[in-house]
Amino acid sequence: MFRAMELVFASTNPHKLREIRELLEPLGVRVLGLDELGQRVPAPSEGAPTLEGNARIKAIAYARALGRICLSDDSGVEVDALGGAPGVSSADYAGAGGTREERDRRNREKLVGELRKLGDVQRTARLVCTLCLAEPSGRVLFESRGTLDCTVSEQERGGDGFGYDSLLYLPELDKTLAELTTEELLVRSHRGAAARLLQAWLRQQSLVGERA
Ligand code: IMP
Repeated sequence: MFRAMELVFASTNPHKLREIRELLEPLGVRVLGLDELGQRVPAPSEGAPTLEGNARIKAIAYARALGRICLSDDSGVEVDALGGAPGVSSADYAGAGGTREERDRRNREKLVGELRKLGDVQRTARLVCTLCLAEPSGRVLFESRGTLDCTVSEQERGGDGFGYDSLLYLPELDKTLAELTTEELLVRSHRGAAARLLQAWLRQQSLVGERA
C-alpha cells in the first residue's frame, strides 16, 4: 500500500497544470496548484539561457519558499528556419505586457510574420518541455526533457490548447495541436514524453504505485 505522494506544480499556467494532473494523478500523485496553497510566493526571475536552467530556477525557488516538493515546467518552441527561436524566449517572444492570452496571440502573430519574411523555407519545428523536481532543501531530485516534432502553419486552426498550439501542425494527423483531444495530445506531446520519464523514475524510487 503506497501513501499518496503530494507535490506542488510550480506554475501559474492552468493548461500546463491540467496536463500534468492528467499525467501524474493516475499514479496516485496528488498535484497541488500554486493558488491552492493560500501562500503567495513571488515568481523567481527566469534569466537562464536554457529551458532546463529556467525549470531548475523555478523548482528550487518554489520548493525552498514553500517547504514542499515542487515540480516545474519550462517549455518552448524551436523553429528551424529561425535558428531555434523563439526557444527559451517563447513566452515573451513579442513582448511581456498584457494577459497570457494577449501575449500568446501576439507571439503567434510574430511567429507567422517572421516566417513570412523568409519566404519559401522549411517550416519544421519542435516543442520542448523540461521538467524539474526539487525538494525543500533546494536539491534537484529529477530532471527530464521531452520533444514533439511538428511544422508551423500559416493559418491558425482549432480552439483548444494554449500558446502556439493553433499554429503547430502534425501532418500525420492533419491537425494542429489545438485540434487534438486531451488523449491524442498527451500520448504525443513534449510534456507527455517528459512526464513519462518522471513517472518511470517515481516508480523506480518506489515513490508511487499504479492506481487500481
Ligand atoms: P514558460 O514555460 O511558462 O516559460 O512558457 C513558454 C511559452 O511557450 C508559453 O507561454 C507558450 O507560449 C509556449 N508553450 C509552452 N508549452 C506549450 C505547449 O504545450 N503548447 C503551445 N505552446 C506552448
